[in-house]
Amino acid sequence: MGSRHLDVCKLDQGATMIEQKQIIMIVDDALINLQILIEVLGDEYEIVFATNGKDALAIAENNHPDLILLDIQMPDMNGYEVCKAIKSISCLQGVPVIFLTAMSQQEDEVVGLKLGAVDYITKPFNTDVVRLRVKNHLELKHFRDNQARLALLDGLTGIPNRRAFDEQLHREWSRALRSQALLSLIMIDIDHFKSYNDTYGHLGGDDCLKQVAAALLASMRASDFAARFGGEEFVCILNESDATGALITAGRIRTKVESLFIPHIASPVSPYVTISLGTVTLIPSEDVASDYLIKMADQMLYMAKDKGRNRTEQWIMI
Ligand code: GH3
Ligand code: MG
Ligand code: MG
Repeated sequence: MGSRHLDVCKLDQGATMIEQKQIIMIVDDALINLQILIEVLGDEYEIVFATNGKDALAIAENNHPDLILLDIQMPDMNGYEVCKAIKSISCLQGVPVIFLTAMSQQEDEVVGLKLGAVDYITKPFNTDVVRLRVKNHLELKHFRDNQARLALLDGLTGIPNRRAFDEQLHREWSRALRSQALLSLIMIDIDHFKSYNDTYGHLGGDDCLKQVAAALLASMRASDFAARFGGEEFVCILNESDATGALITAGRIRTKVESLFIPHIASPVSPYVTISLGTVTLIPSEDVASDYLIKMADQMLYMAKDKGRNRTEQWIMI
Protein backbone atom coordinates (compact mmCIF):
# COMPACT_ATOMS: atom_id res chain seq x y z
CA MET A 1 0.00 0.00 0.00
CA GLY A 2 2.06 2.89 -1.18
CA SER A 3 0.17 5.83 -2.49
CA ARG A 4 -2.98 7.28 -3.88
CA HIS A 5 -3.81 10.15 -6.15
CA LEU A 6 -6.07 12.60 -4.37
CA ASP A 7 -8.45 14.59 -6.49
CA VAL A 8 -8.65 17.87 -4.63
CA CYS A 9 -9.98 19.76 -7.62
CA LYS A 10 -13.58 18.61 -7.37
CA LEU A 11 -14.78 21.45 -5.16
CA ASP A 12 -13.06 24.00 -7.31
CA GLN A 13 -13.72 23.09 -10.91
CA GLY A 14 -14.33 26.68 -12.05
CA ALA A 15 -10.87 27.75 -11.00
CA THR A 16 -9.07 24.68 -12.35
CA MET A 17 -10.52 25.33 -15.79
CA ILE A 18 -8.70 28.66 -15.85
CA GLU A 19 -5.34 27.51 -14.51
CA GLN A 20 -4.31 24.02 -13.52
CA LYS A 21 -3.30 23.61 -9.91
CA GLN A 22 0.36 22.92 -9.27
CA ILE A 23 1.10 19.41 -8.02
CA ILE A 24 2.87 18.71 -4.73
CA MET A 25 4.16 15.24 -3.92
CA ILE A 26 4.43 14.50 -0.19
CA VAL A 27 6.65 11.60 0.84
CA ASP A 28 6.38 10.48 4.48
CA ASP A 29 5.99 7.07 6.12
CA ALA A 30 3.95 8.55 9.01
CA LEU A 31 0.30 8.86 8.01
CA ILE A 32 -0.37 11.54 10.59
CA ASN A 33 2.15 13.84 8.86
CA LEU A 34 0.53 13.18 5.50
CA GLN A 35 -2.89 14.01 6.94
CA ILE A 36 -1.73 17.31 8.41
CA LEU A 37 0.10 18.36 5.24
CA ILE A 38 -2.84 17.47 3.00
CA GLU A 39 -5.04 19.57 5.27
CA VAL A 40 -2.60 22.50 5.08
CA LEU A 41 -1.92 22.37 1.32
CA GLY A 42 -4.81 20.42 -0.20
CA ASP A 43 -7.07 23.41 -0.90
CA GLU A 44 -4.54 25.28 -2.98
CA TYR A 45 -2.63 22.49 -4.66
CA GLU A 46 -3.16 19.07 -6.14
CA ILE A 47 -1.57 16.51 -3.80
CA VAL A 48 -0.07 13.14 -4.58
CA PHE A 49 1.69 11.18 -1.87
CA ALA A 50 3.85 8.16 -1.16
CA THR A 51 4.78 6.42 2.06
CA ASN A 52 8.11 5.02 0.87
CA GLY A 53 10.97 5.97 -1.43
CA LYS A 54 10.39 3.41 -4.15
CA ASP A 55 6.77 4.44 -4.65
CA ALA A 56 7.81 8.08 -4.51
CA LEU A 57 10.09 7.68 -7.54
CA ALA A 58 7.41 5.89 -9.58
CA ILE A 59 4.75 8.45 -8.66
CA ALA A 60 7.06 11.37 -9.41
CA GLU A 61 7.83 9.98 -12.87
CA ASN A 62 4.13 9.50 -13.60
CA ASN A 63 2.78 12.74 -12.14
CA HIS A 64 5.60 15.25 -12.72
CA PRO A 65 5.06 17.14 -9.47
CA ASP A 66 5.98 20.84 -9.23
CA LEU A 67 7.44 20.37 -5.76
CA ILE A 68 8.36 17.48 -3.47
CA LEU A 69 8.11 17.51 0.33
CA LEU A 70 10.42 14.75 1.49
CA ASP A 71 10.87 13.02 4.84
CA ILE A 72 14.35 11.64 5.54
CA GLN A 73 13.91 8.78 7.99
CA MET A 74 11.94 6.12 6.16
CA PRO A 75 12.36 2.32 5.98
CA ASP A 76 14.25 0.81 2.99
CA MET A 77 15.16 3.92 1.07
CA ASN A 78 15.78 7.10 3.08
CA GLY A 79 14.97 10.64 1.92
CA TYR A 80 18.56 11.45 1.00
CA GLU A 81 18.62 8.44 -1.34
CA VAL A 82 15.27 9.45 -2.83
CA CYS A 83 16.56 13.00 -3.43
CA LYS A 84 19.71 11.68 -5.08
CA ALA A 85 17.64 9.43 -7.35
CA ILE A 86 15.28 12.28 -8.29
CA LYS A 87 18.21 14.52 -9.22
CA SER A 88 19.54 11.79 -11.51
CA ILE A 89 16.30 11.47 -13.53
CA SER A 90 16.46 14.10 -16.29
CA CYS A 91 12.74 14.95 -16.37
CA LEU A 92 12.67 15.39 -12.56
CA GLN A 93 15.98 17.19 -12.06
CA GLY A 94 14.39 20.64 -11.95
CA VAL A 95 11.68 19.74 -9.44
CA PRO A 96 12.34 21.56 -6.15
CA VAL A 97 12.74 19.23 -3.16
CA ILE A 98 12.09 20.43 0.40
CA PHE A 99 13.19 18.12 3.18
CA LEU A 100 10.67 17.97 6.02
CA THR A 101 12.34 15.98 8.76
CA ALA A 102 12.90 15.30 12.43
CA MET A 103 16.66 15.30 11.79
CA SER A 104 17.38 18.72 13.22
CA GLN A 105 21.19 18.87 13.28
CA GLN A 106 22.79 21.45 11.02
CA GLU A 107 25.04 18.76 9.55
CA ASP A 108 21.91 16.89 8.40
CA GLU A 109 20.66 20.05 6.74
CA VAL A 110 24.01 20.54 4.99
CA VAL A 111 23.80 17.00 3.59
CA GLY A 112 20.28 17.65 2.32
CA LEU A 113 21.12 20.97 0.69
CA LYS A 114 24.27 19.52 -0.89
CA LEU A 115 22.09 16.85 -2.49
CA GLY A 116 20.24 19.63 -4.31
CA ALA A 117 17.26 20.31 -2.01
CA VAL A 118 16.04 23.93 -2.14
CA ASP A 119 14.96 24.06 1.49
CA TYR A 120 15.03 22.17 4.78
CA ILE A 121 12.28 22.33 7.41
CA THR A 122 12.51 20.51 10.73
CA LYS A 123 9.75 18.70 12.64
CA PRO A 124 7.75 19.53 14.59
CA PHE A 125 6.86 22.05 11.91
CA ASN A 126 4.79 25.19 11.98
CA THR A 127 2.05 24.83 9.34
CA ASP A 128 2.24 28.51 8.33
CA VAL A 129 5.99 28.23 7.73
CA VAL A 130 5.45 25.14 5.57
CA ARG A 131 2.64 26.79 3.60
CA LEU A 132 4.64 29.98 2.97
CA ARG A 133 7.90 28.30 2.02
CA VAL A 134 6.03 25.96 -0.31
CA LYS A 135 4.27 28.97 -1.85
CA ASN A 136 7.59 30.78 -2.42
CA HIS A 137 9.24 27.80 -4.08
CA LEU A 138 6.21 27.08 -6.24
CA GLU A 139 6.12 30.69 -7.45
CA LEU A 140 9.76 30.36 -8.49
CA LYS A 141 9.02 27.03 -10.19
CA HIS A 142 6.11 28.60 -12.11
CA PHE A 143 8.36 31.46 -13.24
CA ARG A 144 11.14 29.09 -14.33
CA ASP A 145 8.69 26.87 -16.24
CA ASN A 146 7.32 29.92 -18.02
CA GLN A 147 10.79 31.14 -18.95
CA ALA A 148 11.71 27.70 -20.28
CA ARG A 149 8.52 27.62 -22.38
CA LEU A 150 9.13 31.11 -23.78
CA ALA A 151 12.75 30.27 -24.62
CA LEU A 152 11.44 27.79 -27.21
CA LEU A 153 8.88 30.10 -28.85
CA ASP A 154 9.40 32.74 -31.51
CA GLY A 155 8.49 36.13 -30.05
CA LEU A 156 6.81 37.47 -33.20
CA THR A 157 4.76 34.55 -34.51
CA GLY A 158 4.31 32.51 -31.32
CA ILE A 159 5.32 29.27 -33.07
CA PRO A 160 8.38 27.20 -32.03
CA ASN A 161 11.70 28.96 -32.69
CA ARG A 162 15.03 27.84 -34.14
CA ARG A 163 16.22 26.40 -30.83
CA ALA A 164 13.04 24.31 -30.47
CA PHE A 165 13.51 23.15 -34.07
CA ASP A 166 17.14 22.12 -33.43
CA GLU A 167 16.08 20.07 -30.41
CA GLN A 168 13.14 18.48 -32.22
CA LEU A 169 15.25 17.61 -35.28
CA HIS A 170 17.86 15.99 -33.03
CA ARG A 171 15.13 13.88 -31.36
CA GLU A 172 13.42 12.89 -34.63
CA TRP A 173 16.71 12.15 -36.39
CA SER A 174 17.85 9.84 -33.57
CA ARG A 175 14.47 8.12 -33.48
CA ALA A 176 14.34 7.57 -37.25
CA LEU A 177 17.98 6.42 -37.25
CA ARG A 178 17.21 3.79 -34.59
CA SER A 179 14.08 2.50 -36.32
CA GLN A 180 15.32 3.18 -39.88
CA ALA A 181 12.16 5.16 -40.57
CA LEU A 182 11.52 7.86 -43.16
CA LEU A 183 12.08 11.45 -42.16
CA SER A 184 11.08 14.51 -44.18
CA LEU A 185 11.92 18.18 -43.92
CA ILE A 186 10.25 21.11 -45.67
CA MET A 187 12.08 24.43 -45.89
CA ILE A 188 9.87 27.42 -46.69
CA ASP A 189 10.78 30.97 -47.71
CA ILE A 190 8.49 33.89 -48.52
CA ASP A 191 8.92 35.16 -52.08
CA HIS A 192 10.22 38.69 -52.57
CA PHE A 193 9.79 39.53 -48.92
CA LYS A 194 12.35 42.30 -49.02
CA SER A 195 10.19 44.22 -51.47
CA TYR A 196 7.13 43.39 -49.32
CA ASN A 197 8.84 45.21 -46.43
CA ASP A 198 9.87 48.04 -48.75
CA THR A 199 6.26 48.44 -49.90
CA TYR A 200 4.29 47.84 -46.71
CA GLY A 201 6.85 48.70 -44.03
CA HIS A 202 8.41 46.41 -41.44
CA LEU A 203 5.28 46.30 -39.31
CA GLY A 204 3.32 45.22 -42.36
CA GLY A 205 6.04 42.61 -42.93
CA ASP A 206 5.74 41.40 -39.36
CA ASP A 207 1.99 41.01 -39.76
CA CYS A 208 2.54 39.01 -42.95
CA LEU A 209 4.97 36.69 -41.10
CA LYS A 210 2.33 36.08 -38.42
CA GLN A 211 -0.29 35.18 -41.02
CA VAL A 212 2.08 32.84 -42.86
CA ALA A 213 3.01 31.14 -39.55
CA ALA A 214 -0.68 30.65 -38.72
CA ALA A 215 -1.35 29.23 -42.20
CA LEU A 216 1.56 26.87 -41.74
CA LEU A 217 0.20 25.56 -38.43
CA ALA A 218 -3.26 25.17 -39.97
CA SER A 219 -1.81 23.00 -42.75
CA MET A 220 -0.01 20.53 -40.48
CA ARG A 221 -1.04 17.25 -38.96
CA ALA A 222 -0.67 16.70 -35.20
CA SER A 223 2.45 14.56 -35.71
CA ASP A 224 4.19 17.27 -37.78
CA PHE A 225 6.37 19.98 -36.26
CA ALA A 226 6.60 23.54 -37.60
CA ALA A 227 8.99 26.30 -36.55
CA ARG A 228 10.31 29.68 -37.63
CA PHE A 229 13.79 28.90 -38.91
CA GLY A 230 14.81 32.56 -39.00
CA GLY A 231 13.91 35.78 -40.85
CA GLU A 232 11.17 34.93 -43.35
CA GLU A 233 12.02 31.23 -43.42
CA PHE A 234 10.00 28.45 -41.83
CA VAL A 235 10.63 24.75 -41.50
CA CYS A 236 8.55 21.60 -40.94
CA ILE A 237 9.59 18.15 -39.77
CA LEU A 238 7.35 15.29 -40.88
CA ASN A 239 7.99 11.98 -39.18
CA GLU A 240 5.12 9.93 -40.52
CA SER A 241 5.27 10.84 -44.20
CA ASP A 242 6.80 9.22 -47.22
CA ALA A 243 8.03 11.36 -50.12
CA THR A 244 4.54 11.60 -51.60
CA GLY A 245 3.11 12.67 -48.24
CA ALA A 246 5.82 15.34 -47.91
CA LEU A 247 4.98 16.69 -51.36
CA ILE A 248 1.26 16.73 -50.54
CA THR A 249 1.91 18.59 -47.27
CA ALA A 250 4.16 21.10 -49.05
CA GLY A 251 1.45 21.67 -51.66
CA ARG A 252 -1.16 22.15 -48.93
CA ILE A 253 1.02 24.77 -47.19
CA ARG A 254 1.75 26.59 -50.45
CA THR A 255 -1.95 26.72 -51.40
CA LYS A 256 -2.96 27.79 -47.91
CA VAL A 257 -0.58 30.77 -47.98
CA GLU A 258 -1.63 31.71 -51.51
CA SER A 259 -5.29 31.60 -50.50
CA LEU A 260 -4.70 34.11 -47.71
CA PHE A 261 -4.68 36.66 -50.59
CA ILE A 262 -2.28 38.99 -48.79
CA PRO A 263 -1.70 41.79 -51.35
CA HIS A 264 1.90 42.06 -52.61
CA ILE A 265 1.85 44.58 -55.45
CA ALA A 266 5.65 44.60 -55.82
CA SER A 267 5.92 40.86 -56.43
CA PRO A 268 6.64 39.80 -60.01
CA VAL A 269 5.29 36.31 -59.18
CA SER A 270 1.73 37.04 -58.10
CA PRO A 271 -0.38 39.97 -56.87
CA TYR A 272 -0.49 38.13 -53.52
CA VAL A 273 2.12 36.80 -51.08
CA THR A 274 3.52 33.43 -52.13
CA ILE A 275 6.11 31.02 -50.77
CA SER A 276 8.70 28.67 -52.25
CA LEU A 277 9.40 25.28 -50.68
CA GLY A 278 12.12 22.64 -50.71
CA THR A 279 11.42 19.14 -49.37
CA VAL A 280 13.74 16.27 -48.56
CA THR A 281 12.81 12.71 -47.63
CA LEU A 282 15.36 10.16 -46.46
CA ILE A 283 16.10 7.37 -44.01
CA PRO A 284 18.81 8.62 -41.63
CA SER A 285 22.16 6.85 -41.73
CA GLU A 286 25.28 6.98 -39.55
CA ASP A 287 27.23 8.39 -42.53
CA VAL A 288 25.61 11.83 -42.43
CA ALA A 289 24.52 14.26 -39.71
CA SER A 290 21.03 15.71 -39.36
CA ASP A 291 22.36 18.97 -40.87
CA TYR A 292 22.37 17.16 -44.19
CA LEU A 293 18.56 17.29 -44.17
CA ILE A 294 18.68 21.08 -43.78
CA LYS A 295 21.37 21.46 -46.42
CA MET A 296 19.44 19.47 -49.02
CA ALA A 297 16.10 21.13 -48.22
CA ASP A 298 17.84 24.47 -48.64
CA GLN A 299 19.21 23.44 -52.04
CA MET A 300 15.73 22.36 -53.13
CA LEU A 301 14.33 25.68 -51.90
CA TYR A 302 16.85 27.60 -53.99
CA MET A 303 15.99 25.45 -56.99
CA ALA A 304 12.33 26.39 -56.46
CA LYS A 305 13.37 30.05 -56.39
CA ASP A 306 15.43 29.60 -59.57
CA LYS A 307 12.57 27.92 -61.38
CA GLY A 308 10.24 30.89 -60.80
CA ARG A 309 9.12 30.76 -57.10
CA ASN A 310 5.63 29.89 -55.72
CA ARG A 311 6.46 26.20 -56.16
CA THR A 312 7.98 23.14 -54.46
CA GLU A 313 11.09 21.18 -55.41
CA GLN A 314 11.76 17.76 -53.90
CA TRP A 315 14.80 15.62 -53.14
CA ILE A 316 14.27 11.95 -52.31
CA MET A 317 17.11 9.83 -51.02
CA ILE A 318 15.92 6.29 -50.32
P1 GH3 B 1 13.40 35.70 -52.39
O1 GH3 B 1 12.11 35.59 -53.14
O2 GH3 B 1 14.57 35.28 -53.22
O3 GH3 B 1 13.33 34.90 -51.11
O4 GH3 B 1 13.59 37.23 -52.04
P2 GH3 B 1 13.46 37.92 -50.64
O5 GH3 B 1 13.33 39.41 -50.88
O6 GH3 B 1 12.36 37.31 -49.86
O7 GH3 B 1 14.81 37.50 -49.94
P3 GH3 B 1 15.82 38.25 -49.04
O8 GH3 B 1 16.52 37.17 -48.27
O9 GH3 B 1 16.65 39.22 -49.86
O10 GH3 B 1 14.92 39.11 -48.04
C1 GH3 B 1 14.46 38.65 -46.84
C2 GH3 B 1 13.85 39.82 -46.12
O11 GH3 B 1 13.18 39.38 -44.93
C3 GH3 B 1 14.86 40.84 -45.72
C4 GH3 B 1 14.55 41.12 -44.26
O12 GH3 B 1 14.48 42.47 -43.99
C5 GH3 B 1 13.20 40.47 -44.04
N1 GH3 B 1 12.98 40.01 -42.69
C6 GH3 B 1 13.67 39.07 -42.00
N2 GH3 B 1 13.16 38.93 -40.75
C7 GH3 B 1 12.13 39.81 -40.65
C8 GH3 B 1 11.22 40.15 -39.61
O13 GH3 B 1 11.23 39.60 -38.49
N3 GH3 B 1 10.27 41.09 -39.86
C9 GH3 B 1 10.22 41.71 -41.07
N4 GH3 B 1 9.27 42.62 -41.28
N5 GH3 B 1 11.08 41.42 -42.06
C10 GH3 B 1 12.01 40.49 -41.87
MG1 MG C 1 15.24 34.16 -47.09
MG1 MG D 1 12.44 35.28 -49.28
